[in-house]
Amino acid sequence: MLYIDPDACVDCGACVSACPVGAIGPDTRLEPKQLPFIELNAAFYPKREGKLPPTSKLAPVIAAPKIERRGGPLTVAIVGSGPAAMYAADELLTQRGVRVNVFEKLPTPYGLVRAGVAPDHQSTKRVTRLFDRMTQQRGFRFFLNVEVGKHVTHADLLEHHHAVLYAVGAPNDRRLDIDGMDLPGTGTATEMVAWINGHPEFTELPVDLSHERVVIVGNGNVAFDVARVLTTDPDALARTDISDHALAALRASRVQEVVVAARRGPAASAFTLPELIGLTSTGEVVLDATDHARVVADLASETDPLTRNKLEVLAKLGDAAAPITRPRIRLAYHLTPQRVLGVDRVTGIEFGVTGTDETRTLDAGLVLTSIGYRGKAIADLPFDDDASVVPNDGGRVRGTTGAYVAGWIKRGPTGFIGTNKSCAGETVHNLVADYNAGKLADPVRKPADLEKLVRSRQPEVVDAAGWQAIDAAEIARGGEDRPRDKFATVAEMLSVAAAAPKPTVRQRLLASLHAH
Ligand code: NAP
Repeated sequence: MLYIDPDACVDCGACVSACPVGAIGPDTRLEPKQLPFIELNAAFYPKREGKLPPTSKLAPVIAAPKIERRGGPLTVAIVGSGPAAMYAADELLTQRGVRVNVFEKLPTPYGLVRAGVAPDHQSTKRVTRLFDRMTQQRGFRFFLNVEVGKHVTHADLLEHHHAVLYAVGAPNDRRLDIDGMDLPGTGTATEMVAWINGHPEFTELPVDLSHERVVIVGNGNVAFDVARVLTTDPDALARTDISDHALAALRASRVQEVVVAARRGPAASAFTLPELIGLTSTGEVVLDATDHARVVADLASETDPLTRNKLEVLAKLGDAAAPITRPRIRLAYHLTPQRVLGVDRVTGIEFGVTGTDETRTLDAGLVLTSIGYRGKAIADLPFDDDASVVPNDGGRVRGTTGAYVAGWIKRGPTGFIGTNKSCAGETVHNLVADYNAGKLADPVRKPADLEKLVRSRQPEVVDAAGWQAIDAAEIARGGEDRPRDKFATVAEMLSVAAAAPKPTVRQRLLASLHAH
């Protein structure tokens, strides 16, 4: 949510025209489902008699990093191409002459924006337009379909760059360690999101939607994304970039209720207020009588204004005792998962009622955990297994020279796309400061050697032109009704990328002159 201070704003409109995802608009033009925000914002910011809000509420503005060292251009390898990687590249390229080479394991870029953001959140996905513009800057280069650790090593990258910045996210799920989690019919919400979004490594995920109830353990925004997609009319999803296999499965789905189960109470809900409002304004969301009573009790003692706002929305939800007329979502509280039930496959899940000796069983054909992501160790870098991050100081990897991190592998799996801008900014500041201080060794190889090395290890490397060809083909396949129809296999992506126009002799010459 954004609050524009009516006292300070000069109404220039620059924020409205510059916001890459169109998230800023005047209150007079809100859609009906956005109207609750007017009251929420007004309640959050009490009348201030002309005084500006305390500066602690404002994000600090950090000046762009300035390169002060003379000599060869700063050259940085970025591993990963999600938001943290793209914001880091953009921050680096604010300085003249900097070169950034972005390495991505898949033939398509943009990480969780492509494979994690739910397909019915198309406006969020629009940030890729901004990322596409970043890729067109002089000094930016894509090496897609190249896996660092497999095709090239950390040491290879350091020979060709001053620094290597890892923005690889948190690719694993946190696993719930209870009996029955290995039965068919169990899974994780994060895998499910990847399957929904057509991530090529998840196309074969067995997703059985032939039962009436799905239970999701955990009530963060990812749980909401999955619950929403499972209960949304497939005809509406057919107008998004959802994968073809997920759409076909959802059309045949018999799911009538998705229970989103949290181990704590309503005031401790992990989902955010905008996501709750989004959920309740588009679908049917209910609570049972015991949970309604818990919401009322929490409201009586809660003082935090944002949590109160959440509780007020929860208090208005319908009653779960009402007959089910269309697929719906039930939010449930104080349920600590104890074991998944079933012999050959899942038949339900047993919870302990948190803080008591009671148990409660819910029948379900699919049990998904949505209890957060986990970072994965990176070859040749230290790893903090408990926090599942690479230990670092402001993005500088501890105990190394020339290695940096940004995004979820730096700070853990929290925050929104925009959080990665300031996170990457901090890392880039420290990287540039180290470069200015002469702490980063100059690359021992010539820039043009990098292309030869990568091609020798991975002949099917995809460049920016290859990605543009995949992008254009997907958009064309989407036709009139869909923003795009994604390729869900690497083979299809590579065959389209291979047909992309190759650079002319003149372009190759110019590129090689620039590289030297
Ligand atoms: P999350 O917000 O950290 O939520 C994790 C949930 O799992 C919490 O309800 C937590 O409960 C529960 N949990 C953890 N361990 C558990 C256990 N052993 N047993 C039962 N429950 C357990 O994680 P997420 O939903 O994966 O989201 C990750 C980040 O991405 C968040 O910052 C989220 O806001 C962001 N995201 C944003 C959007 C969006 O803006 N639209 C969409 C998706 C994701 P406790 O609180 O009790 O630990």
